[in-house]
Amino acid sequence: MNCRNVQPNRLHIKLKNKYTMYPTQEQETNSYTVTQVQQQIQDTILPVTEFEQISANQGLNRILAIDIVAGIDVPAFDNAAMDGYAFAERDLRHHAELTIVGKSHAGHPFQNRLQPGQAVRITTGAQMPDYADSVLPQELAIIRQDAILDMRDIKIRRAQHCRMRGEDLAAGKLALTKGTRLGPAELGLLAALGKTEITVQRPLRIAIFSTGDELRLPGQHLEPGCAFDSNRVTLHAMLTRFGAQVLDLGILPDDPAEIQSALLNIVPEADVIITSGGVSNGAADFTRQVLQQSGQVSFWSVNMRPGRPLAFGQINHNQNSAYVFGLPGNPVAMMAGFYFFVRPALQLLSGSPVTMTPAVKAIANMDIPKKVGRTEFQRGVCKINSNGNLHVSLTGEQGSGMLSSMAEANCLIMLIPEQEDIIAGDTVKVLIFEGLI
Ligand code: AMP
Ligand code: MG
Repeated sequence: MNCRNVQPNRLHIKLKNKYTMYPTQEQETNSYTVTQVQQQIQDTILPVTEFEQISANQGLNRILAIDIVAGIDVPAFDNAAMDGYAFAERDLRHHAELTIVGKSHAGHPFQNRLQPGQAVRITTGAQMPDYADSVLPQELAIIRQDAILDMRDIKIRRAQHCRMRGEDLAAGKLALTKGTRLGPAELGLLAALGKTEITVQRPLRIAIFSTGDELRLPGQHLEPGCAFDSNRVTLHAMLTRFGAQVLDLGILPDDPAEIQSALLNIVPEADVIITSGGVSNGAADFTRQVLQQSGQVSFWSVNMRPGRPLAFGQINHNQNSAYVFGLPGNPVAMMAGFYFFVRPALQLLSGSPVTMTPAVKAIANMDIPKKVGRTEFQRGVCKINSNGNLHVSLTGEQGSGMLSSMAEANCLIMLIPEQEDIIAGDTVKVLIFEGLI
C-alpha cells in the first residue's frame, strides 16, 4: 500500500485551490535575516499574566511571577569558614598564647562570651562566639599542653576565615527577580531563605502536531515511501525541558480541512500551537495554506540554513487566540527554527527575558564551505585539546534532514552572513548544547 492517504483526484483539486492562494513570486523571493525575524516575532509577544502558588520544591524550571525579597539574613549569624580556632584578632597584640576554653560545633554554639586571651575550637559553619572575630585554620594551629594555642608566628587578618551575618543576602535585599527561571541554584537560594511557597507563572500550554501523509508513529508498520514521525518526539522533549505543558495532537494528514479543524479546535486550550512540515512552497504544503486562511500569519524565507521556511502569527477562534509557529518538516531545520525563533518567544511569553546561549570561540579543525550573505549553522563536536584550546570539527554530512548528525554533535557552529569559507585554523563561534547545571 502506498502511504499517501488521499486519492490522487482529491489531491489534484486541493493543489489547484492551494496554488491560487500562494504569495506572488515577488513576495516569495523576500528573504529576511535571522535577527530581523527574531525581532519581528519578539515585538508581537505579550506575556501570559496568569500566576499560581506552588510548593517551592516543585519549582524546577518554573518562572517567578514576583520578586523574592530576603526575609532573613543569610547567613543568619557570623560563622567559621574553616575548621580551626575562633579568637579575637585584637588579642594578638597582648597575648602570645590563647587558652582553648571550649568548642563551637555546627548546630551547637559555644554558650558563653569569649574573654580576652581565650579561643574555642570551631567547625565550619559553626557560630562565632561573642567577642571572637577571626578563625585560625586548624592546619596552622600549634597546640601546647592540649589547651594552649601558640599564636607567636601567626599572621591572621581580622575577620579572616569568617563568614559574616547577611554577607550572602541581607534581610530586605532583592534575592531573585520576577521572570527568573528557577534552576538548581535558585531553588537552593529559596530554601536558604526558608521559602516553602512561591508564586510562579502558570506553565505555557503548547499544542504540537506533525503534518504529512508520509508520517507514521514509531511502532507502526512503515509502508514504502513513509517515515516515522520524529519531529513531535523532539519537540515534546525540547518543550518539556523548557518547562511547558505539551498538548500532543499527533499527526495530521496533508488535508487542509483536517489541519484547519485541528488548529481551530485547539486554539482555546493553547497559548501556542507549533506545527512541523508543510510550510514551504511545495505541492503538498497545506499547513501554509491553512495558516494563511485562519489568522494573521506571516511567512518568512529566513536567510539561514538549515531552517529557511517559517510561519509565525496568531490564529483566532471563538474569541480566543493563540500564537502559531509553522516550522519546517526537516528534523534539523525544525530544531534550528525552535531554538532561534520559538524558544525566545516562549521565554517572553512566560515573562522571562530572552537569553540565547552565549557563543564561545573555537578553532575550526577543518575547512567549512560557507555562502556569504546567509547565516549558516553546522553541527559540530567541540573538545578542548591538550593546550587548553577549544577546537571544533564538523559531524560530517550536514543535510537538514540528518538527525543523526545532530545527535552526534555537542554544538552548533554559527556562521554569520558576512563570513566567507572557513579555512582550517580559523576561529569560529559555537553554541554549546548542554548547560553546566
Ligand atoms: P515538509 O516541510 O513537509 O515539506 O517536509 C520536509 C521533509 O521533512 C520531508 O522529507 C518530510 O518527510 C520530513 N518531515 C516532515 N515532518 C516530519 C516529522 N514530523 N518527522 C520526521 N520527518 C518529517
Ligand atoms: Mg510535508
